[in-house]
Amino acid sequence: MKVDLLHHSDLEVCAHAIRTCWQSFDKSDDGGEKDKELIHRVGNKFKHASTLEHLNYSFYIQGVSRALLQELARHRIASLSVKSTRYTLKELKEEESFTLGMSMIELKEKYTEPNEVYNDIHMQRASKYLVWSGNLSVDFSSIVALENLRLILLDGVANDRAKYCLPESYKTELTWTVNARSLQNFIKLRSSKSALWEIRDLAYELFNTLPDQHKYLFEECVSKEN
Ligand SMILES: Cc1cc2nc3c(=O)[nH]c(=O)nc-3n(C[C@H](O)[C@H](O)[C@H](O)COP(=O)(O)OP(=O)(O)OC[C@H]3O[C@@H](n4cnc5c(N)ncnc54)[C@H](O)[C@@H]3O)c2cc1C
Repeated sequence: MKVDLLHHSDLEVCAHAIRTCWQSFDKSDDGGEKDKELIHRVGNKFKHASTLEHLNYSFYIQGVSRALLQELARHRIASLSVKSTRYTLKELKEEESFTLGMSMIELKEKYTEPNEVYNDIHMQRASKYLVWSGNLSVDFSSIVALENLRLILLDGVANDRAKYCLPESYKTELTWTVNARSLQNFIKLRSSKSALWEIRDLAYELFNTLPDQHKYLFEECVSKEN
């Protein structure tokens, strides 16, 4: 997966919102240490967390599965614009066979060593479209599903019918905009050991992509469990 931060609000926007309540603008230090302490004290410690909603982050998230997307979409306090399979599945029609006509059983017989499998040229071509689970049976099954989809599209089936046989591992990408309050909730829930491994990776990646001066607001939300 790849996560890029496209845009973020300055800390002083949030500090300004807080200072609006007390009209204490004369104490502002333009997003410096005094403002950072104020945001943490009011937004986190005093639980006046709606002030954190003035901080917004827009991320471009690429190479995640539709299984992850389904879970990410459950976070209602965020905005998503997702790559549309209805419009983009035609990219598969340009591809050569991913399985060279092999069934799942034949694939399992041909490849046994994980290193050999994931370095194989056909697997690498398929990895443009699929997130690997790391389990060979699951990943071969995904490749066979991808190949079936390619053949269905070559048969002339329309994208909005063909998409019903997409594997959950099919890669997608989205622009995701979220405010600091909701991102805290997301990181808390999804960096937890009990979260799906891929969304857990995303939670850490989002945290790592944040501007350094903003990270302190989220540090307590990141799970340290292994
Ligand atoms: C480990 C794990 C396992 C899960 N398993 C399942 C599962 O098996 N099945 C399943 O369906 N989901 C599952 N979920 C998803 C979960 O139920 C939530 O839908 C998801 O985590 C989004 O959380 P959220 O509602 O806090 O976030 P958001 O939707 O972003 O909401 C943020 C916050 O806003 C407030 N809020 C939002 N909407 C409302 C509302 N209508 N009423 C009151 N307050 C509101 C709440 O305080 C909420 O925490 C799982 C999540 C986790 C982390």
